[in-house]
Amino acid sequence: MTYENTLEFAKQQDAHDPLKSYRNKFYFPVINGSEAIYFTGNSLGLQPKSLQDYVLNELEDWASFGVEGHFHARSPWLSYHEKFAAPVAKIVGAEPDEIVVMNQLTVNLHLLMVSFYRPKNERYKILCEAKAFPSDQYAVESQVKFHGYKPEDAIIEVSPREGEYCIHHEDILEAIEKNKNSIALVMIGGVNYYNGQVFDMKAITEAGHKAGAVVGFDLAHAAGNLKLHLHDWNVDFACWCTYKYLNSGPGSVGGVFIHQNHLNNPVTPRFTGWWGHDKQTRFKMEKGFVPMPTAEAWQISNAPVLSMAAHKASVDIFNEAGMDTLTAKAELLTGYLEFIIDETNNKRNLRNEKQAGFLEIITPRDKKQRGCQISIVAHGHGKDLFNKLTTAGVISDWREPNVIRCAPVPLYNSFEDVFKFGEILMDCL
Ligand SMILES: *Cc1c(COP(=O)(O)O)cnc(C)c1O
Repeated sequence: MTYENTLEFAKQQDAHDPLKSYRNKFYFPVINGSEAIYFTGNSLGLQPKSLQDYVLNELEDWASFGVEGHFHARSPWLSYHEKFAAPVAKIVGAEPDEIVVMNQLTVNLHLLMVSFYRPKNERYKILCEAKAFPSDQYAVESQVKFHGYKPEDAIIEVSPREGEYCIHHEDILEAIEKNKNSIALVMIGGVNYYNGQVFDMKAITEAGHKAGAVVGFDLAHAAGNLKLHLHDWNVDFACWCTYKYLNSGPGSVGGVFIHQNHLNNPVTPRFTGWWGHDKQTRFKMEKGFVPMPTAEAWQISNAPVLSMAAHKASVDIFNEAGMDTLTAKAELLTGYLEFIIDETNNKRNLRNEKQAGFLEIITPRDKKQRGCQISIVAHGHGKDLFNKLTTAGVISDWREPNVIRCAPVPLYNSFEDVFKFGEILMDCL
């Protein structure tokens, strides 16, 4: 597409947008009396207007039925979590029995490593990306320590090359090959939270398996952002949060994928609780754990229905919109943001990446290696630039020392948002 830096062009694109009606399904924060340009759906997605009703239904049913709501609520709580298997499977490219919605992201990451990080003899290392989201680093470090290893020995981090921000894909594959006798687990973020780089999950999974390792992904920034094929890619396990692109509210319930290859495997260890027990006999309350034949076997506690109701509201919107339509728009919209930022440098006659004032895009320019997010290094600027943007009505995200992350998300952001952001950016600079 040939982009133009005009309001007319942006409005034209919005008029042809098959998802244009979806913007109206969300609440936007208001700054100085007008709707903010909200580019932080990668951090906390906006609230769907329908969500209150989903949650209120459960509150009403609780008021009406008390404990009987487990059976008599409009969506009985006993099986509430089962409503997610099919629609969430569509969002991440899985089979329904491979999906369970439970707990929260880092907790799930630990539970999955209990099952799938099984160090033995010389095969005990975890390969991950350098500068992963801190929670993942802490989780991985504590897991290797828990098994009696030293993080500096047992964790292999693949870094960007000197002076670069993104990791070369071939460097990941090479690191897997080089350590093929010692890696037990490859655990990478599907999308790096900082620079927005998307990793080739299919190729990494293949390479990891060839090396004899288990392969899992943290999809915090990938679920609801990218078209995923977790089942077909043979990914062993994955987990994600639902409050970023999936708009399910602060700290909402997490999502988990476990490949069919691992369901019903009696030697896979796991931490268990009653909600993972075979539902036919769960309430006999007898001794002896019998696992569910699905990913539900990993559930420990009974389902947090209030946050699940919020998640359900959002999942319904995703399934109505469809990941194909969403990702098609995301590609165009992110491309437009990239164009607008380049234009900002051009208009100010800045062409050198290290020049003061230059806005350097550190997210890959290759569309296959990014989703909705563009990260910008604002050379020669400090947090004052970000503060000015906020005052002018842009909600973006600031990472020290000078990185601005912007995520124009296809469900509720428009081309006009991106155009206006460009104008405001010029003003603030
Ligand atoms: C957002 C995010 C988290 C947050 O973890 P919680 O357990 O939900 O608090 C963890 N890892 C990654 C990669 C993230 O992007």
